[in-house]
Amino acid sequence: MEDLILSSLPGTRDLLPEEIARWQMAEELARRIFDRYGFAEIRTSIIEPTELFSRGIGSDTDIVGKEMYTFIDQSKRSVTLRPEATASVVRAYLQNTMQRGGGITRLYYMGPMFRHEKKQKGRWRQFYQIGAEALGSDHPAVDAEMIEMALSLLQSLGVESRLLINSVGCKNCRPPYIERLRTALNACHSDLCEDCKRRAVTNSLRVFDCKVENCQPIIQNLPTVTDNLCAECAGHFARVKAYLDDAGIAYEAVPRLVRGLDYYVRTAFEIVSGELGAQNALAGGGRYDGLSEVLGGPRVPALGFALGLDRLVMLLPEELSAKWKCKPELFLAHLGEAAFKKALEIARHLRKQGHSCHLDFSAGTLKSQMRLANKLGAKHVLIIGDDELARGTYSIKRLEDSRQWEITIPQISDYLKSRA
Ligand code: AMP
Repeated sequence: MEDLILSSLPGTRDLLPEEIARWQMAEELARRIFDRYGFAEIRTSIIEPTELFSRGIGSDTDIVGKEMYTFIDQSKRSVTLRPEATASVVRAYLQNTMQRGGGITRLYYMGPMFRHEKKQKGRWRQFYQIGAEALGSDHPAVDAEMIEMALSLLQSLGVESRLLINSVGCKNCRPPYIERLRTALNACHSDLCEDCKRRAVTNSLRVFDCKVENCQPIIQNLPTVTDNLCAECAGHFARVKAYLDDAGIAYEAVPRLVRGLDYYVRTAFEIVSGELGAQNALAGGGRYDGLSEVLGGPRVPALGFALGLDRLVMLLPEELSAKWKCKPELFLAHLGEAAFKKALEIARHLRKQGHSCHLDFSAGTLKSQMRLANKLGAKHVLIIGDDELARGTYSIKRLEDSRQWEITIPQISDYLKSRA
């Protein structure tokens, strides 16, 4: 029989009720914190025209070249399950003329992303990101504020992390730097791995992402973009760092941290955690002042980050779940058919008044119902039997200290509120 049970696809999984509390906690805190910074939620489509990503992420990236879930739909359109959400958010911003009001538009999102990556710990093919984008400003304080917001979420969850930052220059200083980089790469071409040989020609900056051991000493000796910034980019970077200093945020400047695409400019950052193992990146972000134009819009200076929710949840202690688990305020124990009906009626009445109630549907004994109430973590048990029905008063028991009172139905809601 077991052979007949279909399994989920490799790299995907079900998030079960016992772990979902931690997910909800991270999501709920993200909403609260992002709200404080003036970010509003946006929900874009999960399926998008493939071209959005080939243009918005770049066709010579691993994501677009190897990892996208793309199919032709019934209208013969090439459609892709989103591998990230920045391109979608910028598309939605342009399509809905959100730039109309001027000023900064601050948006956040959360949801599933899809990449056909090699499966390993902390890496899934369907994974979840919480991300934020601020569109419409090139002020370095916006960069610092965005970083502060991401870190503040992690801090509020008690997650230890490190911030790595860099500047990747702009369309003025990067081309001459890339020339310098290409010359350096040509000089050691035969020592590079096959991927880097290709990258050296197609997208030289991406050589810095190479993880192959033999390439590492070569990478260490390559000229860095940070040493070749124009005065404006160097100034922007210095100001971002000064704003971070003002906010008391520690960072490590990493000259080899890059984003390999033209429309990524200036600030690039990553938040890593030592507790995650090989896949140590918790969040990645940066400025993408050129992306709107690539998607057919006007120039919109912008930046954002995406945080891996799957990895974040791995770092949250399991005990935290218990706090967030929805524990019933009241368990209704009933003895006999008439009492069961009454329990259903009282539960309906109390739920309408905002209370969480549970009851047993298996006609168990009072003892087994008390056991279930304890297992669910209920705070109180209301006992309903024939005597109570006849009297119209019920015993309510507080499980914490087993104290018991007599109560009538109209009093229950106020009683529960006073104990909340
Ligand atoms: P990226 O969009 O590649 O900059 O990724 C941002 C963050 O999303 C990373 O730092 C990870 O925490 C998370 N992430 C990216 N890819 C995956 C994946 N395949 N599985 C789980 N988390 C991922």
